[in-house]
Amino acid sequence: MIIVMQHGASKEQVEHVFERITAIGLRYQAIYGEERVVIGVIGEEDLIRTLPIDAMPGVERSFPILHEFRLADREWHEQPTQVAVDGVVFGGNKVVVVAGPCTVEDEPMLVRTAESVQTSGASMLRGGAFKPRTSPYTFQGHGEQALAYLAEARAATGLPVVTEVMDTADIELVASYADVLQVGARNMSNFSLLKKVGKLDKPVLLKRGMASTVRELLMSAEYILSNGNMKVILCERGIRTFEDGTRNTLDLSAVPAIKTVSHLPVIVDPSHATGRSAFIAPMAKAAIAAGADGLMIEVHPNPETAMSDGAQSLTFGQFEQLMKELGPIAAAVGREI
Ligand code: PEP
Ligand code: MN
Repeated sequence: MIIVMQHGASKEQVEHVFERITAIGLRYQAIYGEERVVIGVIGEEDLIRTLPIDAMPGVERSFPILHEFRLADREWHEQPTQVAVDGVVFGGNKVVVVAGPCTVEDEPMLVRTAESVQTSGASMLRGGAFKPRTSPYTFQGHGEQALAYLAEARAATGLPVVTEVMDTADIELVASYADVLQVGARNMSNFSLLKKVGKLDKPVLLKRGMASTVRELLMSAEYILSNGNMKVILCERGIRTFEDGTRNTLDLSAVPAIKTVSHLPVIVDPSHATGRSAFIAPMAKAAIAAGADGLMIEVHPNPETAMSDGAQSLTFGQFEQLMKELGPIAAAVGREI
């Protein structure tokens, strides 16, 4: 922690800060500049964070040296973490493609979609059973019935499945069917949910909140990691900006930004990021070029009849074509798909 004293801070104010630092067992090193005093605090940074430094008289500002996300930090774990789900590895050389409908509508549509995306090269199936919808009057998902359909689609294809858990009360139920639990954008800061999924031995796909910074995403991941679950996959899915030509703004720089500071695998969801099927292919390609470890793409047998997110869903043919086009992009950045 570095503490910058105000211009003109008195000797007493500086000494008061020293006293508060030593009172909690830490040391300090002060630099007396021509304009102001700068204090470096030496010792465990968690301890100094317990002090309201910026509220002390004469302090202009303070800033941490260490990342607050300890377990998600690359310094703690230099090598990229690989999260394996039934033989599908996130964070390895192979770019993992997760595909499927926004919502699980019925068993035949789900199995057909699973078979089709598998033939095209997807290695995991997605599908919502509990849907976070903006309006309480729209379709909310088929719940446990949809979880059972996901299990049937997995049995038919061998594809592992990822589905969202929205409520702490449903964790056990969803975990009993899903191979990966998704914590959606709207729940990225639901700390009770994060702590509970952190207690499970099951991979978690944590999506970035639409108004959350990369640091906040990593702090949310830290909730899961610090509760003992090290199987965390991060997902960039677009953030809210002033742009209204797309559903969200895909923040692709989040991929290298996360990888610079964290060892966790990162995938990109161009579907929720753009909201428009025509934009999925270019953004999926860009995501791979940017270093994403995987993609999550919505695919529907007939997007114009989809119960949710039809406008951003690819047809089977469009997905097949996209998968073909992604190969050379992955190869160009030294990856396989
Ligand atoms: C989803 O993936 O089904 C979803 C609702 O996405 P997000 O949480 O990113 O909005
Ligand atoms: Mn959707």
